[in-house]
Amino acid sequence: MRPSILNPLFADVKALTGVGPKIAALIERAAGSRIVDLILTAPINVIDRSLRPKIQEAGLGALATFEVNVDSHHPPPKGRRLPYKVVCSDDSGFVTLVFFHGRPDYLQKALPEGEKRLVSGKIEEFNDALQITHPDYIVDPEKPEEMPVFEAVYPLTAGLSAAVMRKATIQATARAPELPEWQDAPWLAARHWPSWKSALDSLHAPQSHNDLSLLMPVRMRLAYDELLANQLALLLIRNARVKSKGRAIKDNGRMAAKAKAALPFEFTNAQKHALKEIFDDMRAPDRMVRLLQGDVGSGKTIVALFVILASVESGAQAALMAPTEILARQHLETLTPYAEAAGIRMDILTSRDKSAGRADKLQHLKDGDIDLLIGTHAIFQETVSFKDLALVVIDEQHRFGVHQRMTLTQKGAKPDLLVMTATPIPRTLALTAYGDMEVSQITEKPPGRKPVDTRAIPLNRLEEIIDGVKRAADKGEQAYWVCPLVEESDFIDLTAAEDRFESLKAILGDRVGIVHGRMSGLEKDAVMERFYNRDIAVLIATTVIEVGVNAPNATIMIIEHAERFGLAQLHQLRGRVGRSDKASSCILLYKAPLGENAKARLQILRETEDGFLIAEEDLRLRGAGDLLGAAQSGFPRFRLADLAVHGELLAAARDDAKLIIERDQKLETPRGKALRTLLYLFSRDDAVRLLSSG
Ligand code: ADP
Ligand code: MG
Repeated sequence: MRPSILNPLFADVKALTGVGPKIAALIERAAGSRIVDLILTAPINVIDRSLRPKIQEAGLGALATFEVNVDSHHPPPKGRRLPYKVVCSDDSGFVTLVFFHGRPDYLQKALPEGEKRLVSGKIEEFNDALQITHPDYIVDPEKPEEMPVFEAVYPLTAGLSAAVMRKATIQATARAPELPEWQDAPWLAARHWPSWKSALDSLHAPQSHNDLSLLMPVRMRLAYDELLANQLALLLIRNARVKSKGRAIKDNGRMAAKAKAALPFEFTNAQKHALKEIFDDMRAPDRMVRLLQGDVGSGKTIVALFVILASVESGAQAALMAPTEILARQHLETLTPYAEAAGIRMDILTSRDKSAGRADKLQHLKDGDIDLLIGTHAIFQETVSFKDLALVVIDEQHRFGVHQRMTLTQKGAKPDLLVMTATPIPRTLALTAYGDMEVSQITEKPPGRKPVDTRAIPLNRLEEIIDGVKRAADKGEQAYWVCPLVEESDFIDLTAAEDRFESLKAILGDRVGIVHGRMSGLEKDAVMERFYNRDIAVLIATTVIEVGVNAPNATIMIIEHAERFGLAQLHQLRGRVGRSDKASSCILLYKAPLGENAKARLQILRETEDGFLIAEEDLRLRGAGDLLGAAQSGFPRFRLADLAVHGELLAAARDDAKLIIERDQKLETPRGKALRTLLYLFSRDDAVRLLSSG
């Protein structure tokens, strides 16, 4: 149960004065629907009314506050739809205050002729004269307190005014109670960090642009709270899982030796190292929860095979789960020769398996007649049960979040879990998303890979590129041609891809194919099949060309509107080529002129194929929030912490969380109890629940 001290913060924003259903809906879009969402949303700007320039000194478009003499009122002539104007001056010049639909009686009172007033607003120029339309403030210089000197500005949304958002946030902040301190006192003192409540009050009362800096103690304190909540929650989840009794596998190496004899290559050192880490983990009695990270083409699948063999050798079953049908089938195909050599029984289960065939497979699985089941999400449906499942391998994991991982392994017996991802993730980010797992990395690629010749070419040279593709196709080469989604949603705009399909068909005839997200699995497979079999020379695709798809003969990757893709995504796409000893190329077709950021992305891509380096740059250029694009969830979005700036704090939070759990596993000490409050504050109820469930 959430501690009652937090209740006021978890009330609906409608509880605030001046916030009705309409405004609440807007606030929800800008920050969130609860009061806590407002207080955890930092201001992005500050209005400073402390500057009092002379009228002539103020810059156009700037916000300025003048002390002026009210010279004369000019109501609009009767019947004309003109604004009401009030001319004011100081000893440097004149400024006209402009009011549309101004009420004369109100304006006469607010701006009495011959008196002095402080007026504040944005300076504009109109017919060679300076003016302020609807000043933000008009106050008597004797009562300057009626005008705030500083005002915080928050992220807004269409229809929501800065003033409304500010008023709501001020009220919300006032409702925040003093909370028991969850941070270590010496650590706070060493950093000169204030208490939570005091930090919060300062956050929402910036006095300068400097106060908005992510490096100010106030902001650092709040960012650290958020990161600590994240790391603590992940460790609690991890511990609950590891402690849930695993098994020590007893492999004998016999199947592995047979499969190894069938391998046409030697493991790289990086693969050997990863295998050793994984085996050590599986042979220990605790449950394994491990991430295997390796760039595209680094050879994760083979590593997975040997991990699976170890598990099967010890008499149990294994499951290999891929995010899509195509990938599941490809794994089946890749692994078949080795599975046969090793003598393991393998089958596939996807949503395409229906009725009789499916029932058969399920029975075999239950009887233990299938050693390795490959499949999609279908593997984890209620009706699927194994005889003795000891290992689950999940491929291309970045599409799953912590929560899905939790539900996945809650199924039946508690198998070891190996999760594989081809998305290189900067260390900092890996901790936030995979902090509940141990990590192994494959840091080198198999020998003999040639670099992919990567070029950025403006779209106005499209004709040339098409000619080039035709020549390559005539020589038996194969190419991917990627068209971007216009919108990142399930309902993709297909026209770009379909138009390109038509225009290439006119040149290449039936040697062109297309795959996109609106085709059924069967339709997609049929096209992919023709691409593998080299019946198709050019495959047009929206980004659905699955991460992980392997068609080694394809040597050309063309990415249209490359400027619309993120770095990591471009890197993934490029990884589809350069998978054999043949020379490959990647052409980034862009629409000129390129923005600074897009230019930097394409440049980095041309300079390196090192996925980890690219991931670090991606983090730097895009910020952690959208590193992998909105569609690929599984990464927490932080509100107060920014990993591009607070990376060092994250490492500290990790260490801190470890120490906390070592000393106070159930969070029962006074600090432990305060930390529970912290977890609830950041809505990590899931993690707190694990504490009580034992
Ligand atoms: P990933 O899944 O990491 O992207 P794959 O496992 O699909 O990579 O491997 C890519 C290709 O490299 C496959 O054709 C695979 O057979 C081959 N491969 C894997 N390991 C090695 C190795 N040690 N030496 C040579 N080729 C390898
Ligand atoms: Mg793979």
